[in-house]
Amino acid sequence: MTCPECQSDSTLTVSLGRYVFVTSTLPLLLTIILAVWISPVLLWFIPPLFATNYLIGRKRAPMVVCRNCRRTSHRVSAA
Ligand SMILES: [Zn+2]
Repeated sequence: MTCPECQSDSTLTVSLGRYVFVTSTLPLLLTIILAVWISPVLLWFIPPLFATNYLIGRKRAPMVVCRNCRRTSHRVSAA
């Protein structure tokens, strides 16, 4: 995959699974910490959290991130 901006070959493709994993890790940790501190009821927020990130990821993934110029393309264009 070549970057459409700078024609660099050093691009990184972010799949849907990876997108959901990356966007969910931090909120997931926060939710677990708050659940331990406050109430286990907060654990019920985890499934909707994943569902939300999954729905967002379905619109954005696969994403192509250029390591050279940091450009992010939301769609893989068949060049
Ligand atoms: Zn680039």
